[in-house]
Amino acid sequence: AEAALLQSEKLAAVGRLASSIAHEINNPLESVVNLLYLIEQTVHQDAEQARQFALLAQQELARVSQIATQTLRFFKQSTSRQRVDIPGLMDSVLALYAGKLVNSNVEVVREYRDRVELVCLEGELRQALNNLVGNAIDVMRVGGRLRVRVRGATDFATGRTGVRLTVADTGVGMSSATQSRIFEPFFTTKGIMGTGLGLWITQELVVKENGRLGVRSREDQPEKPAGTTHGTVFALFLPDGAV
Ligand code: ADP
Repeated sequence: AEAALLQSEKLAAVGRLASSIAHEINNPLESVVNLLYLIEQTVHQDAEQARQFALLAQQELARVSQIATQTLRFFKQSTSRQRVDIPGLMDSVLALYAGKLVNSNVEVVREYRDRVELVCLEGELRQALNNLVGNAIDVMRVGGRLRVRVRGATDFATGRTGVRLTVADTGVGMSSATQSRIFEPFFTTKGIMGTGLGLWITQELVVKENGRLGVRSREDQPEKPAGTTHGTVFALFLPDGAV
């Protein structure tokens, strides 16, 4: 069962990873295709101009290679808990979606009030945030607002201190039938575009870290571009692993 679980975790990470990478490298690759065409057209008449195009193409390809190495490093599982700057981690997740956010006309609102650190499994938390942010962007197809909030917090039930993370979108929300199944492995409403493992994995992390994950969602509402009302809000509480 442990092996199967690891296998599914990898599968889910790869699903998101593949679509993130594909999206992020597409723009630089298209530039390179255009630049090569321009080089071909100008190389005989204007060698200096062609050289400039070649330099630009090199820069674009360096960017592609940087994205590839970054993304591979990005999804490594943690071997132990370590102190993590949570707003910094959230920013690095958002950076992976920079292109997609612009293309889908999604505005990001960051609510980081104070410096918040947490001792936790960084790789796993990164994956969890990646799933929440990725899902939020998926449901805002006509644009919208992604609100990410990080706060130091105390769990009222247990008195433990830790961090509360909120990811809110202005997307379509979900029916109560959907909501009751979102944490099941392989449950997806995205057909072949989904793995149905993102939230299951996120829930697994929460269990491992002894945290809580809650969801609030509007039901079957028409999508509102950049509306002030929320489609779906995920709230994650993680206790500090150091205490
Ligand atoms: P996947 O994204 O591959 O479908 P997840 O486990 O991450 O897998 O999500 C399961 C399902 O939960 C999604 O297919 C979608 O129906 C629903 N869901 C998740 N996040 C949101 C959201 N922010 N808004 C609306 N529905 C969501």
